[in-house]
Amino acid sequence: MSTRNSPPVLAFIGLGGNLGDPVATLRSAVHRLMTVPRSRFLGASRFYRTPAWGERDQADFVNAVVAIETALPPKPLLDELLGIEREFGRQRGSDTQMRWGPRTLDLDILLYGPLSLATPGLTLPHPHLHERAFALVPLLELVDDIDIPGQGSARAALARVDRSGIQALSDR
Ligand code: ATP
Ligand code: CA
Ligand code: CA
Repeated sequence: MSTRNSPPVLAFIGLGGNLGDPVATLRSAVHRLMTVPRSRFLGASRFYRTPAWGERDQADFVNAVVAIETALPPKPLLDELLGIEREFGRQRGSDTQMRWGPRTLDLDILLYGPLSLATPGLTLPHPHLHERAFALVPLLELVDDIDIPGQGSARAALARVDRSGIQALSDR
């Protein structure tokens, strides 16, 4: 399938980190996301301090969301993001690394236009987006509301989850 002439898609990228200086890391990561090929940076949310999700026994996270318009197909976009995570020192695959454990930088594709996709390496929309206030709150700072394919309105999803403990940081 040719993707050469595919029209640009509105995509939202979730950023997170809780090792080192996550605010500094996310600040640089936002700048780095301005240089993703075949993409136009549209904006970034404020940064939020959020309690760890999943493995709760670790430092708070800092989370944000970035909006881009991209002509990259979903898998090449993910590969770009995984490359940026590595540039920022993310270690994967070590015995000590647990899923949902501490990390310098985590970049997830939350939404890729209206696309639903389930492949071994990439699921869209992000399968936990609708149940994570730390992703929904910054997302809804960038858009009034948006449809999460298969889940309905993001704003309605946020009304169903616990958003306590999610605190906007003024220093970005
Ligand atoms: P979670 O996906 O629950 O937020 P995580 O971000 O900690 O957990 P990772 O270890 O960063 O999980 O990612 C594991 C794999 O998830 C990645 O290597 C990637 O192939 C896959 N993946 C599937 N869907 C997505 C997506 N929408 N965005 C980013 N990675 C995804
Ligand atoms: Ca994640
Ligand atoms: Ca991830």
